[in-house]
Amino acid sequence: MTGYAQPIRQLISELAKFPGIGEKTATRLALYILHTSDDNARKLAHSILEVKEKIHLCSVCFNLTEKEICDICADPLRQKDVVCIVEEPDSLIAIEDSGSFRGTYHTLHGVLSPLDGIGPDHLRIPELLDRLVKNNVKEIIIATNPNVQGEATALLITKLVREMNIKVTRIAFGVPMGGDLKYADRMTLAKSLEFRRII
Ligand SMILES: [Zn+2]
Repeated sequence: MTGYAQPIRQLISELAKFPGIGEKTATRLALYILHTSDDNARKLAHSILEVKEKIHLCSVCFNLTEKEICDICADPLRQKDVVCIVEEPDSLIAIEDSGSFRGTYHTLHGVLSPLDGIGPDHLRIPELLDRLVKNNVKEIIIATNPNVQGEATALLITKLVREMNIKVTRIAFGVPMGGDLKYADRMTLAKSLEFRRII
């Protein structure tokens, strides 16, 4: 990219910082921005600044919101005593989009990862424990991802709430709907058998 003028090189190097964007894609995006109308470019720049200025974390569940309390926490119809614990806001959105959960959430903003120096205090676990007591929560559904860190985080939370008389459940893992058993990996099949249920 050394052949490009400095402002273009600067834009490419900024875009290349995005996750999953390599230099080639960053260059394509930069050239797209260069060719788009001034108005479109201004809208893009404005959107970036607007999310940085307006979006913050819900003071109850740490979901992303532009209000003090997010719409889910503020909804009187949502069950406040059932809390689904997720790693990141994108998991929350995915569950929300499924339309099958009427409780509330708690976003940890990460998972335990000792190698990266991320311990319980780096996650929103103290706030979770506080909330469980305050809101008299009856059930937590641990929906961290099915990998080593997600499992370790689930285990830690389970230990911490053991004395609190709260029902602790973990989301089930298994074969995706519409999937085919012969394409499922061994670990997924093993979990499907482990978490089988009576029908
Ligand atoms: Zn909230």
